[in-house]
Amino acid sequence: MKQGSHTLLFLFPYFPALLSTLVPVSSRPYMRAVFYEEFRGPISHTNVPDPVPNRNGVVVKVEASGLCLSDWHGWMGHDPDIVLPHVPGHELAGTILAIGKGVKFWKPGDRVTVPFVGGCGSCVYCQEGDPQVCNQQFQPGFTAWGSFAEYVAIDYADQNLVRLPENMGFAEAASLGCRSITAFRGVVDQGSLKEGQRIAIFGCGGVGLSAIQIAKALGAEVYAVDIHKGKLEKAREFGADHLIDNSMGTAVEKIVELSGGGVHVSMDALGHTETCLQGINSLRKRGKHIQVGLMAENHARPPIPMDKVIAHELEIFGSHGMQASKYPEMFHLIQEKGIDLNKMIGNTISLSEVPELLPAMKETSQAGITVINNFR
Ligand SMILES: [Zn+2]
Ligand SMILES: [Zn+2]
Repeated sequence: MKQGSHTLLFLFPYFPALLSTLVPVSSRPYMRAVFYEEFRGPISHTNVPDPVPNRNGVVVKVEASGLCLSDWHGWMGHDPDIVLPHVPGHELAGTILAIGKGVKFWKPGDRVTVPFVGGCGSCVYCQEGDPQVCNQQFQPGFTAWGSFAEYVAIDYADQNLVRLPENMGFAEAASLGCRSITAFRGVVDQGSLKEGQRIAIFGCGGVGLSAIQIAKALGAEVYAVDIHKGKLEKAREFGADHLIDNSMGTAVEKIVELSGGGVHVSMDALGHTETCLQGINSLRKRGKHIQVGLMAENHARPPIPMDKVIAHELEIFGSHGMQASKYPEMFHLIQEKGIDLNKMIGNTISLSEVPELLPAMKETSQAGITVINNFR
């Protein structure tokens, strides 16, 4: 997760309400939050000052928040945006509680979610309609304190808040988080996947399962790849046509054989040198590889076979969140195709369980995503 260079600015909303002329968000000066003071250090469930909205922002009462591998990367110190001490959490849905004086389009009581990358609305990329690569990004849980808390401050509210459809629950909306939206942008916009085409999806966690759902909704043939049997079974439930057990590292051979020469689109939803390269090597000529899994530490610079990229006219795309303006299109696909977001939710937990679960996220073999729905 990249960002601009003004992280300190975003810590300001968390100063106690006394420092602001704006209305405090609750009668108590402190809220419950998950908090850490050092990377790879102890994580606590404790009291921190209530947030207040910036002039162009809101405070949201968090009703549901997804637990994501990106939160683990943040705690590990892989994300240069995080300034300690920190409250993680970026896949949120909730109700607006307080608004800044400059906010035009929102009011307390509105049910909302946000993409994990928020744009400033004024830089050249925001002006071009691509806030997901904004020069001054706002990312709750990265550039600012996040949603593993009772309340979270969201900046640039008019640019980035998304109104929830009436029939969408908070946990479902949180499950969109950086899973469905990342998958939607990766498959639909960057991958341009068409009906009848073949796609290989590496990693059947939240993003992978979302990508399977979306690819099936578009009428594609899906090859789901993982090393965990439970995750492959989940992939079958989500509609995958072929389950590829990659525990022996043989996914490429299997996919190329089964597909008769390779897939039109591959997606690495895990973020690993091997799955990135296997994705590229599973492509037919003129295929597209979509990298959505974050590449950290020694996976940051995989040895891409550029000779093959040229000879086969392959295309390699990064995909980084999704614009708030695209949500209605995604909601439409979800409703039109009857995509069941509840299927995505593997486990619901309390905020107090996060300190134990977060450090172990990389090793988890749990199928489906974990959503916090109790914030006391
Ligand atoms: Zn911008
Ligand atoms: Zn996430």
